[in-house]
Amino acid sequence: MPALSESFEPPSNNLAREFSPEIFEDPNSHPESQDWKWQVKNRITSFEVLSHLIKLTPEEKEGFKKSNGRLAMAITPYFFSLIDKNDPNCPIRKQAIPRIEEFKVSPGELVDPCGEDSHSPVAGLVHRYPDRVLLLVANSCAMYCRYCTRNRLVGRERPPMGIEQFEAACDYIRSKKTIRDVLISGGDPLMLTTAHLEGYIRRLRSIPHLDIIRIGTRVPVTLPMRVDEELVNMLRKYHPLYMSIHFSHPREITPEVSTACNRLADAGVPLGSQTVLLKGINDRPSTMKKLLQKLLKIRVRPYYLYQCDLAVGTAHFRTPVSSGINIIRKLRGHTTGYAVPTFVIDAPGGGGKIPISPDYVVTRLKDKTILRNYEGKIYDYIEAPDE
Ligand SMILES: *Cc1c(COP(=O)(O)O)cnc(C)c1O
Ligand code: SF4
Repeated sequence: MPALSESFEPPSNNLAREFSPEIFEDPNSHPESQDWKWQVKNRITSFEVLSHLIKLTPEEKEGFKKSNGRLAMAITPYFFSLIDKNDPNCPIRKQAIPRIEEFKVSPGELVDPCGEDSHSPVAGLVHRYPDRVLLLVANSCAMYCRYCTRNRLVGRERPPMGIEQFEAACDYIRSKKTIRDVLISGGDPLMLTTAHLEGYIRRLRSIPHLDIIRIGTRVPVTLPMRVDEELVNMLRKYHPLYMSIHFSHPREITPEVSTACNRLADAGVPLGSQTVLLKGINDRPSTMKKLLQKLLKIRVRPYYLYQCDLAVGTAHFRTPVSSGINIIRKLRGHTTGYAVPTFVIDAPGGGGKIPISPDYVVTRLKDKTILRNYEGKIYDYIEAPDE
């Protein structure tokens, strides 16, 4: 049985290694490019390497100058290959490359925007809702999203949750019979080796009152080769197991990502998506609709659309709440209901996810409800008469 403490050691800054720019010319044709560990090892993590590969804008250069000690940068060769190098506004680029705006603190911003630390009975475990918990097992990700809501925890390449801490979290779950659902997240749980992740999942599965296990991840998008046969054959042993995959833009849905999602779906893992609404990246209704419709084609059911959290240094990514409502209005009724996610705000300070929706109710009277449909037409729904 593999030791639970076995962990994948993320490499340190890659300047120490030989830099081979050829890798990035056509990273997908490199003989090792389908090996996920090769991808992780060859991530771009330094200004020197990045500036060799792409012409940086003044805002990006400034961002790097100041970026010591903040959310690290890491971009897999695969994800980097999706960047349009000639477009400073490329939606993939904006998610991955730091900018000076990250150092601006705006009103209302919080280090722990969703009040997770204050709802944490045991380190690494967040218990906000009555019947389910969030378990943060890993601190690293394949690619660091510049808008990350947990930028206080991730991006420092710290080791994953240790065995003692995991046991303490398990003891807590075991002691609370009302918990029937564990959401494993991080960082990214799929950055762990399959054996390491299986150690966690197997322990959780041994808790009799746990109905379902969920994994929250962005790895199928930023490192799709991680979703190999070994991983899916492990996951399929622990059903019912669900996965929420973080997608941002239709350009992320490549043949590689499609293969990864199809593998997971074929292993019986129900797939949902989570998307953060991001200014200049996916806030046009047409862009969002394209993403959601493409997700259905790869058997991913859109789950949540998040208003961008009030994490420190993310104001340049935040859209007005009205843009999200408008996107939902342009989806509901206009396309497949399965394509429509729930738009939520994760309440600052720890109130949990609050759904927000366009107003379809015009008036509620005692005997009838007056409704507006997706085309703006008005309808009456008459209540049953009082007995
Ligand atoms: C999002 C979240 C969950 C899961 O919420 P669902 O609405 O069930 O998907 C659980 N715990 C915490 C702390 C969360 O932030
Ligand atoms: S994958 Fe998730 S946890 Fe990791 S940097 Fe992106 S948003 Fe943050």
